[in-house]
Amino acid sequence: MTALCVVGTAAELAAVHASRSVFFVPTMGALHVGHLALVHHARRLADAADGIVCVSIFVNPLQFGPTEDLAVYPRTLDADLAALDQLADTCFVPSSTAEIYPEGQEIFIHAPELGAQLCGASRPGFFSGVLTVINKLFALVRPHTAVFGRKDFQQLVLIRKMVRQLHLPVLIDDCATIREADGLACSSRNSLLEPAKRPQAVVLYAALQTAATAIAQQTAAVTACAAASQLLSEAGFEVDYVECRTKDNLLPWPSTAAKKFVVLGAAKLGSVRLIDNVADAVT
Ligand code: AMP
Repeated sequence: MTALCVVGTAAELAAVHASRSVFFVPTMGALHVGHLALVHHARRLADAADGIVCVSIFVNPLQFGPTEDLAVYPRTLDADLAALDQLADTCFVPSSTAEIYPEGQEIFIHAPELGAQLCGASRPGFFSGVLTVINKLFALVRPHTAVFGRKDFQQLVLIRKMVRQLHLPVLIDDCATIREADGLACSSRNSLLEPAKRPQAVVLYAALQTAATAIAQQTAAVTACAAASQLLSEAGFEVDYVECRTKDNLLPWPSTAAKKFVVLGAAKLGSVRLIDNVADAVT
């Protein structure tokens, strides 16, 4: 293992990567143990294939709405680079927004209908912004495999769809959600939670688990999701949605075709929007 090589331009990155197989973890930084689990996974894949691990750190302005938290999104670059040293081989930290958006942006990846549902319903343009930047990063990094977290389940489903439908030459792999000791999903945004509200944050995961268990025991999904929303409201959350969908492609549940479901939720605690999901429940 060699020291981390930090590069700011795609040209430098291409020179450093040469023709090696790249195992890629795109992030927006403020790295936590959830991100690092993806990097460890990429490391194992890379070591087995004589490849290298690349992590990108870029807070993508295109996926933030005008009233969202771009300005206050946590940025901890020095700590991020220290955490990646001896673990990843390269870290792509675009030297400016223009490195990713040299002409502004006129051409976008248009997210399908699913991109306007769940998180997309309250964040118009969010998934187009995500898919557009992931597409660019794939073009710049040229990974053999890219690793994503199931924490952002809808994002993962849409990225897989994009890769299939655009025939992108990259394999997509995913990792389970890493949680804090009480069950709260690790997130860069957790650091923005008011300390007094932090103990309540775990109610999101608890409510989704309760709903998933009830649905697995034949409670109607709408009833179970409404109960979860109620629990969240009582705990002081402003609920965005709690929904049950098919696990494969996030179609409405119940489904005659699919056997597995996922319960997804998003809710604000104070000014911080948290998302989570409980999957792998089998009917
Ligand atoms: P972000 O920096 O939020 O864009 O996330 C970068 C990647 O890390 C995405 O693939 C996320 O799904 C993944 N990720 C974020 N939080 C977690 C977590 N708690 N467990 C596993 N993966 C995560």
